Amino acid sequence: TKRAAANAIIAPDFKFEDMGIGGLDAEFSTIFRRAFASRIFPPGIIDKLGIMHVKGMLLYGPPGTGKTLIARQIGKMLNAREPKVINGPEVLNKYVGQSEENIRKLFADAEKEYKEKGDESGLHIIIFDELDAVCKQRGSGAGGGTGVGDSVVNQLLSKLDGVDQLNNILLIGMTNRKDMIDDALLRPGRLEVQIEISLPDEFGRQQILKIHTAKMKENKVMSDDVDVGELAALTKNFSGAELSGLVKSATSFAFNRHIKVGTMAGVSEDVTNMKVNREDFLNALSEVKPAFGVSDEELE
Ligand code: ATP
Repeated sequence: TKRAAANAIIAPDFKFEDMGIGGLDAEFSTIFRRAFASRIFPPGIIDKLGIMHVKGMLLYGPPGTGKTLIARQIGKMLNAREPKVINGPEVLNKYVGQSEENIRKLFADAEKEYKEKGDESGLHIIIFDELDAVCKQRGSGAGGGTGVGDSVVNQLLSKLDGVDQLNNILLIGMTNRKDMIDDALLRPGRLEVQIEISLPDEFGRQQILKIHTAKMKENKVMSDDVDVGELAALTKNFSGAELSGLVKSATSFAFNRHIKVGTMAGVSEDVTNMKVNREDFLNALSEVKPAFGVSDEELE
């Protein structure tokens, strides 16, 4: 099973929650195995195997599910330098050649280091958010019918398959619309590892809520009547980002109980005893709603 495979490479004392990512253990393990495991082996072993590292992967799924979070955390685990992050729409430029130039720049540091150090070069991670904005099926008129989208895809392809194959690059593309991505980009050697990051199930939601309430619990500003298990059951279809929004909304209701409404706004004296309680979370539930109506059955 997915989980058994995960256990093979994850140390027993390692907790995903400690990294601040909830409900994505299996996905994380797969990403690590496919895109990173080969990178922690000495180059000699990789040469013997006659393989190349995975140079690209695609994380796809609804917004706010932790795609960026996971990409950054994985970079940290590998001691990679701070990833370069770029947004699809940011790259697009109406001036001829400027979008390609933006892509070229993205790879420039890695290329320079690879020329100097070869396989001893550190790993360069490039996170490409909203990839669909520039990498729609070629000929589909992405980039406002200017053909800019086509040349961006071509430029990315040439960086990934280039004659001087860079072995020190990992391009992590992200999208909410995998179906929009040009097929040519998804072939082996390119964004070859494709992982769906879907909305969390009930267990995942519980983990995520635990992460986002960890601090208030530790600092004893959360009442004992708050049960994250109960909240997880009540938050079907919530993304991680929405669960984090729920926690914030709940704290606002707790603040509200301590605000004196009068001619001058002020807080009451008992504010030092402020705690976020179950009622605050129930109020938050009537305020924060999930954007996507996918049912749990569909997710399973
Ligand atoms: P988008 O598609 O909109 O770029 P994304 O999938 O990259 O979204 P993130 O930016 O990683 O989503 O998530 C936004 C925030 O929501 C995170 O910084 C985090 O606070 C919270 N969050 C999302 N998913 C999780 C999760 N699985 N565990 C814990 N927190 C999460």
